Amino acid sequence: MQDTEKAAEKVKRLRSLIEYHSNLYYNADAPEIEDDEYDALMRELKELEARYPELRDDNSPTVKVGGAASGKFASVEHTVAMQSLRDVFSMEEVGQFCRDFPGAAFVVEKKIDGLSVSLEYTDGVLTRGSTRGDGRVGEDITENLLTIQSIPHTIRTDAKFLEVRGEVYMPRKTFAALNLSQEENGQKTFKNPRNAAAGSLRQKDASITASRGLAVFVFNVQQVSGMAFETHSQSLAYLASCGFPVSPEFTVATGYEEVAAAIEKIGGQRGTLEYDIDGAVVKLDSLSLRRSAGVTSKFPKWAVAFKYPPEQKETVLRDIEVTVGRTGVLTPTGVFDPVLLAGTSVSRASLHNQDYITQKDIRIGDTVVLRKAGEIIPEVVSVAVHGGGEPYHLPEVCPSCGERVFRLEDEAALRCLNPDCPAQLLRNLIHFASRDAMDIEGMGPAVIEQLISAGRLHSPSDIYSLTEDDIASLDRMGKKSAQNLLRAIEKSKGNDLYKLICALGIRHIGESASRLLAARFGSMQKLMEATAESFASIDGFGEVMAEAVVDFFSTTHAKELIHRLAGSGVNMTTLGGEQRESSGKLTGLTFVITGTLEGMTRDEAKALILANGGKASGSVSKKTSFLLTGENPGSKLTKAEELGVRVISLDELNEMLAAE
Ligand code: NAD
Repeated sequence: MQDTEKAAEKVKRLRSLIEYHSNLYYNADAPEIEDDEYDALMRELKELEARYPELRDDNSPTVKVGGAASGKFASVEHTVAMQSLRDVFSMEEVGQFCRDFPGAAFVVEKKIDGLSVSLEYTDGVLTRGSTRGDGRVGEDITENLLTIQSIPHTIRTDAKFLEVRGEVYMPRKTFAALNLSQEENGQKTFKNPRNAAAGSLRQKDASITASRGLAVFVFNVQQVSGMAFETHSQSLAYLASCGFPVSPEFTVATGYEEVAAAIEKIGGQRGTLEYDIDGAVVKLDSLSLRRSAGVTSKFPKWAVAFKYPPEQKETVLRDIEVTVGRTGVLTPTGVFDPVLLAGTSVSRASLHNQDYITQKDIRIGDTVVLRKAGEIIPEVVSVAVHGGGEPYHLPEVCPSCGERVFRLEDEAALRCLNPDCPAQLLRNLIHFASRDAMDIEGMGPAVIEQLISAGRLHSPSDIYSLTEDDIASLDRMGKKSAQNLLRAIEKSKGNDLYKLICALGIRHIGESASRLLAARFGSMQKLMEATAESFASIDGFGEVMAEAVVDFFSTTHAKELIHRLAGSGVNMTTLGGEQRESSGKLTGLTFVITGTLEGMTRDEAKALILANGGKASGSVSKKTSFLLTGENPGSKLTKAEELGVRVISLDELNEMLAAE
């Protein structure tokens, strides 16, 4: 075969492989390969296209902006294209870029690893927000963006119209907490904060976005009316004065040396930032120079994105520890000889589940390549050499109680289904006593562990029959601390119903879902009798959650537990009395909530409305009875005014509830 023919075949294969991975990354938020592997495919394709110009194609992924509007949301045509950036992987390429603009000033910024968004403000009010899509057409995700705390709903500006571009991201801590709870619940975990951010932002139900703790950094003025800037750095300063969180700690640098120093400084900070970055962006500062530099179909010629190489180290896998979580999921953790990675010593990494271990053929004694995904979470990239061990299989019985474990349909995880499993009991009790749940001060993991070992705790209900002697005889506990703990246990009996629901640790039911359930049903009795259909009227409550509740209460174990807790005097109703299912002062009325309410979160206001028989909806329509507004209301207010929906404050809602 001719060289060109071979190259043509290779180009075809690469294009379809890149399209496949782009689709997973941009549209499904579920990449299968790491960014550097994707970048390598793209580089190979670019090189071939450069060597064989006859193979170039306007539809090649090297000339198109990746991504597409999904059809899930209304589409938005971008007046100013939302382009990508030209990636460079060596400092020589950065040097060449700087030399192309002799004497020019550059701005060096962190390249935040998230999702690009456009935010449009009319008369200082956020009127529309959208995704990048393919750069020309994106998706209207205004509702979702309005739930992100750091996106201002109103800004300080005299500009009639201002469009800015920014990056929505998930802070690392939030990501770690989200994945932990996803794993506990046997749900899909996200590969890195970028995918978690993308998956959280493009949700049809904005309340899911709201619960995910996303944030934004704004890095560009796309268009502005009645105002002009000479430099990019000036425009960033202006954006900060409007009230935007702007591209953090950007540097203005002249010449390659200064640019290189700024890139190196950002590189050094990578492991310690509260958010992920996937490079540094170098941009011409002068806006007139930018105009003369121009753009290609995919990226501007006045900027480059420098990608830092990922840090990887080899080490030996010494052991695989299997722990049992609160919901019975078996989690294998690799234990390695410690290595220094992205600033910290790493000796453990989750091996997730059997499929993961089998796919990579990880065996005890292997030398493996480790890295930190997104600079934070240690993971095994691959096995470098087998160390002579056998293929690894997770145990068929629970390492804690010895009962057989099961793999449920649609789940990758193995679960121990024994409700009396001691490992689950420990996790369950820790959760039961924790702050979001029954909030029993002084009842931490160490105390619980000792009480289980002493045979005093077999179930959460045993907490309520503990005696002073039981507690005072534990390590580091005296008479005084025993009395304090007993007081805290007694106090927890008076908790509102939602805290008890949350304490039960039902799969998929966290604190805010517990509030919704308590508000809707009013008593444990009613909740236990509820059928899957009776959850349909709860806004923000999906089928999976409803099924989890019904399943939980169908077991004898749960019924007995509730019976014993009630017998010990634990409160079983929402405070303020038992609510009837669908009658109350707000029966027949539908509310939409917007803005920041004083003294109450939106979830709490929603629970209050539901508790009084009203309905809460996510968007304003003709069917909306009232728009409950707080500070910085945003586009829902405009919509309500257009439709003639009555707008009320929290005080007015309280007056409605207080009225005879
Ligand atoms: P890009 O992510 O490399 O660069 C463009 C983006 O950078 C812009 O959309 C912008 O929002 C963002 N950005 C963040 N901070 C910025 C700042 N301070 N200034 C300017 N822009 C800033 O380009 P891309 O075309 O969106 O995607 C390519 C990236 O996606 C590569 O890193 C690639 O590895 C990754 N990718 C990975 C897979 C996979 O399967 N793993 C698939 C497709 C793409």
